[in-house]
Amino acid sequence: MSRVLVTGGAGYVGSHACKALAGAGHLPIVFDNLRHGHEWAVRWGPLVKGDIADRACLDAAILEWKPDAVMHFAAFAYVGESVSDPGRYYRNNVAGTLSLLEAMRDHGVDRIVFSSTCATYGIPHIVPIPESHPQQPINPYGAGKLMVERMLTDFAAAHGLRARALRYFNAAGADPQGEIGERHEPETHLIPLALAATDASSPLTIHGNDYDTPDGTCIRDYIHVCDLADAHARVLESMETMPSGFDAYNLGTGRGHSVLEVIAAAELAAGKPVATRIGPRRQGDPAVLVGDASRIRRELGWEPRHSDLGTMIGSAWHWSQHGEQR
Ligand code: UDP
Repeated sequence: MSRVLVTGGAGYVGSHACKALAGAGHLPIVFDNLRHGHEWAVRWGPLVKGDIADRACLDAAILEWKPDAVMHFAAFAYVGESVSDPGRYYRNNVAGTLSLLEAMRDHGVDRIVFSSTCATYGIPHIVPIPESHPQQPINPYGAGKLMVERMLTDFAAAHGLRARALRYFNAAGADPQGEIGERHEPETHLIPLALAATDASSPLTIHGNDYDTPDGTCIRDYIHVCDLADAHARVLESMETMPSGFDAYNLGTGRGHSVLEVIAAAELAAGKPVATRIGPRRQGDPAVLVGDASRIRRELGWEPRHSDLGTMIGSAWHWSQHGEQR
């Protein structure tokens, strides 16, 4: 059993990772400032309320709980906001991570799985995108995540850190047991907004239908949050016997779905039509983002098991109907 400090463990992907860690026999210790995370999502271990930028709080948590490893999810994650307020993103996501890495170094915690993103690639030249694709992010959110990947590389070389970045595509869905799910405030993601638009009070804006794709709408690689969580637990375990160093894995399905396909699946799951309107393109949206995750499949035997569109949207619908009281 490992004791794992999970920063951002009260958030969407972080809380599902905690459940996967507990299911694999580990103890997740959530470290979260609860600014976007939810106390109700912390169910599989203790909660330390704190900010990664607060070195004293991190030191105290590490001394008290003596983690063997860290999973690092804590970050702001609104791409548009990162463009309008880059300082907020670099301070929290980059400087905050530096504080975490220095605390790990000083306390001898030498294993970290980092929640990175396909936004580090920028506009793809090759689809599906392999890990070797050039990383040229087009917004401060992606740039900050790439800076952290570089810090991990440098800390590995200098201090013997074992670090893996997981670059995920579009996280979707909810825990099949309905214990946790997606709850963002404000919500900007397609699937929860499409499901919310089935009550017709708030139509979904389709951000552009004039892309060079078969139906004119953007194509994304949606991956079930439980498949992401499972990958985090596997990667962490695979690192137990690994030498120091940094590496990265993509997490996606290799299949893309258009906005219109997602809307059709949402209508099927909800049994009601989704009210829509066509809006302009959203700044910084590439037409197609699909990931090549063959490397983690080959090296760690990971397979997405819940990531067909119907299963993902069905679980999100169930959560939207039954998780609302939280
Ligand atoms: N999208 C949309 N309307 C919305 C939200 C999203 O048409 O209200 C589109 C967006 O342009 C993108 C896809 O849905 O092509 C997925 O967007 P989301 O924000 O869920 O994830 P992202 O790809 O930005 O990480």
